Amino acid sequence: MGFSTDAIHSGQPPDPSTGAVITPIFQTTTYCLEELGKDKGFVYSRSGNPTRSAWEKNIAVLEKGKYGLAFASGMSAIHAVSKLLKSGEHAIVSNDVYGGTYRLFNRVMTDYGLEFSYIDMSNLENLKAAIQSNTRLVFIESPTNPLLILTDIAGAVDICRERGILVSVDNTFMSPYFQNPLDLGADIVIHSSTKYLGGHSDVIGGVIVLNSDELHDKLKFIQNSVGAVPSPFDVWLLLRSTKTLAVRMERHNFNASEVANYLSRQKKIKKVIYLGLDSHPQNELAKKQMRGFGGMVTFEVESFEKAKDIMHRLKIFTLAESLGGVESLVCHPSTMTHASIPKEVREKYGLTDRLVRLSVGIEDVEDLINDLDSAIN
Ligand SMILES: *Cc1c(COP(=O)(O)O)cnc(C)c1O
Repeated sequence: MGFSTDAIHSGQPPDPSTGAVITPIFQTTTYCLEELGKDKGFVYSRSGNPTRSAWEKNIAVLEKGKYGLAFASGMSAIHAVSKLLKSGEHAIVSNDVYGGTYRLFNRVMTDYGLEFSYIDMSNLENLKAAIQSNTRLVFIESPTNPLLILTDIAGAVDICRERGILVSVDNTFMSPYFQNPLDLGADIVIHSSTKYLGGHSDVIGGVIVLNSDELHDKLKFIQNSVGAVPSPFDVWLLLRSTKTLAVRMERHNFNASEVANYLSRQKKIKKVIYLGLDSHPQNELAKKQMRGFGGMVTFEVESFEKAKDIMHRLKIFTLAESLGGVESLVCHPSTMTHASIPKEVREKYGLTDRLVRLSVGIEDVEDLINDLDSAIN
């Protein structure tokens, strides 16, 4: 089936007990047993809930995996993956990783004896050089946020597979509509479903998709043991959201490329980072491993003051964290999403306070460009 047909139907046949076309919100904590040891597949909603199961099946199909596991947030999904490591083991992480991921790894998980190395994953030689005898996981974010740096996912998998190192990819920025890391050989895909999957800035959530039975059993055990599960209503919103994922992503992609082209023509803009621009150094790799370029555009101006001025003048682009919703947002990564990364660390890889990040929404693109034009010029 095509992506949209799967998005609308997978995991959600009409409800067998009532015929309801839309999967109900099973707002229940517990389930009656017919007799001791005999249940209908559900016993307690931390362990499993029918609305959540429908969402887990739906996202598994969209991400080309066998299993989906839903979490209360993207961070709790990432936390679950980090729990695959034992004390004394090591993970290699993309440099420009989401600020919250960096904070979780470096300020929480290191207290449990895990080791992390951060590298520029755009060059796979760096990956080879960073592998240690205790390396167990390579944690890729591609594209990264906000610098939109790619990792050659299939290339990274080649290096890791022979050494028995797991590869996990945070695919939040592309959504399964534009990129499927499992098809490129990755073991685990992660999303913050708060972003494009949810798409309407009204639900926090996370999800993991994977193929391995063994890893699924471990992660499901962690999901149930830790208990960071989403509510039935939240996953129902996500089921509703993925039905329109394809049309939203097409429009995000179109609007973002128009915005990137507009910005590239402005003298006051020093640099525009968008994967669809020929000027992006990894434009070829983008075309190879993705089917679109997404809705995120980052640009750099001459000074922090100028960046602040533009952000304050924008009217349609709302100054806020987060991304991937139908409405356009503007964010200042160094003081907002990435404030938890020390200044010396982020400046080293180019995350300066002169950068502005746009999450281009699906409004009329002329209005977005006019808004930018009056703020910049
Ligand atoms: C937002 C985000 C996360 C964290 O997800 P939450 O749902 O906010 O917990 C992780 N990775 C990326 C790339 C994100 O954008």
